[in-house]
Amino acid sequence: MRLVKRIAQLRKTIISAKRRGKKIGLVPTMGYLHEGHLSLVRLARRKCDFLVVSIFVNPAQFGAKEDLKKYPRDLSRDLKLLKKEKVDLVFNPLAREMYRDGHQTYVEVVDWSKLMCGASRPIHFRGVTTVVLKLFNTIEPDLAVFGSKDYQQAVIIKKMVKDLDLRVKIVTGKIVREKDGLAMSSRNKYLSKVQRKNAVVLYNSLKWSRRAYIEGLRDPKLAVNKMASMIKEKQGKIDYIALVDKNTLEPVKKLRKGTLVALAVFFGKTRLIDNTTL
Ligand code: AMP
Repeated sequence: MRLVKRIAQLRKTIISAKRRGKKIGLVPTMGYLHEGHLSLVRLARRKCDFLVVSIFVNPAQFGAKEDLKKYPRDLSRDLKLLKKEKVDLVFNPLAREMYRDGHQTYVEVVDWSKLMCGASRPIHFRGVTTVVLKLFNTIEPDLAVFGSKDYQQAVIIKKMVKDLDLRVKIVTGKIVREKDGLAMSSRNKYLSKVQRKNAVVLYNSLKWSRRAYIEGLRDPKLAVNKMASMIKEKQGKIDYIALVDKNTLEPVKKLRKGTLVALAVFFGKTRLIDNTTL
């Protein structure tokens, strides 16, 4: 497994792999890897010959008051985990390699980047699409794998690929959860013991919505109210609870099979997201 820090070197290695007829796969991450990330790596490994994992805490997707500086990092542990998964190349650039002095070009999926997570994180998705496009341009992967934990992110990236005629195939992997149901996240590390216990309510409220739908609930407002009260009872501060069309992210008037139920909730200063489809 090679560790590459420079774009030029990455490009050279990829060109050589392509010359040898290799199908290239990419899994973009911010590191501090957990089983959720590794499930995507395994999925990608099965579908390509030359697997690239990027580890880059992308400054462009963090707002000024967000956790860029304290975002957890552990490169040597990440490298050990990725070696076990038979990853071919890890790309771990410095911020100044990805955003050279005077960088001023961004790509944005304009409307969908304002919805849901975008409402409270206005530059977030612009940062995500910009860095992902830069990775796609350098690596030109045949496929790239994203987790449905960040459901809106995956929808926005698919939209960028379609709108900009990119040739990469986007594959999504399932949400991996802790034993009690909390979705795995590098940010779970920030939670106190009590917050960690309370945070299971996110999964429980999503499970409740699925069950209520099966039992006949169709009114999205009733669903939001009940989920909000469950979450507030556990000291969660709601950023949003959205019941939307899973392809267009538009709010639904009536719950249907396939409706996306997505939420973002603060426990203390830690903002967690999760989702399910009905
Ligand atoms: P991050 O390092 O948080 O930027 O995540 C990198 C990729 O891993 C994204 O595509 C995420 O959606 C995905 N991911 C994060 N957590 C999980 C999880 N619990 N299950 C599945 N995929 C995940």
